[in-house]
Amino acid sequence: MKPLPPKLTTEERQAANAAASAARRTRAAVKVALRTSETSIFDVINSADPALQRMRVRELLEAVPGIGKLRAEAIMERAKISPTRRIAGLGRIQLAALKGEMAITKVDPKRGLLVVMSGPGGVGKSTITRALKSDPRFWVSISATTRDPRAGERDGVDYYFYNDSKFDQTIAQEGFLEWAEFAGARYGTPMEPIEHWLALGKNVVLEIEIEGARQVRSVAPHALLIFIAPPSWEELKSRLLGRGTDSPERAAARLALAEIEMASAGEFDHTLINHQVEQLIEELVSLATSHQEVAQQE
Ligand code: 5GP
Repeated sequence: MKPLPPKLTTEERQAANAAASAARRTRAAVKVALRTSETSIFDVINSADPALQRMRVRELLEAVPGIGKLRAEAIMERAKISPTRRIAGLGRIQLAALKGEMAITKVDPKRGLLVVMSGPGGVGKSTITRALKSDPRFWVSISATTRDPRAGERDGVDYYFYNDSKFDQTIAQEGFLEWAEFAGARYGTPMEPIEHWLALGKNVVLEIEIEGARQVRSVAPHALLIFIAPPSWEELKSRLLGRGTDSPERAAARLALAEIEMASAGEFDHTLINHQVEQLIEELVSLATSHQEVAQQE
């Protein structure tokens, strides 16, 4: 038979209730401090306050900006901490594992923004992404494609070069944020790294064609969609034809496609004109910053 709970006097019960609600308030205040990065999980773990020592490790981790439910679960699994473990029950080895995990995580209190860049061929998108790759505020996504590598392109750097069956398999496993067909090949944005880098506070840039941009808009309404336009149609024409590597038919097809692409500019949040790369990047940063503030208020 289960032992009966001890009988409490009214005063004792009131005191116990008051202590429990004070402990809840302490834990709530600590979660706010964690969310705003005023305190770290190790300040909480090392605190002598019994209210904090009774806090669950899962609750502690979930309050850290950028970690969330799924990552908290994954971290605890790797550190071999049971889902119901409280701070007071953490062992030395688990603590060391948690320290290692947090060092890797390096979470930024501010989530990054998903930035989609589209525009006609020849407008200079690859020069822009090259510059963004060396800017610590951004992380540029690496797409998968079924087209053949061009001279100098490296697998895992410029693209992941997939064969058709690997591409099909990734679609079936819902491994792409978006994918589309373009000029006889398929292109897709691998999903997994996107969430990772956003949680670390990086602005994640996708340089994709228009159909893909439309898909991102529908699955990620807070994404910032930027259309890159040439200074003029004449300039674009001369850049496209100036490549000199195309047959006249192919050059005509490129121009026709560019015309269709230019017509979709109105679907984007902003159009930036590529006069000069450095200036365009500064405009992009300021748009991303203001868009991010609005997105976080919503
Ligand atoms: P290229 O073959 O010249 O590297 O790229 C052709 C087109 O595919 C470009 O307009 C480029 O923006 C687009 N593209 C590259 N990666 C992706 C992707 O992951 N998804 C989509 N939808 N388009 C992409």
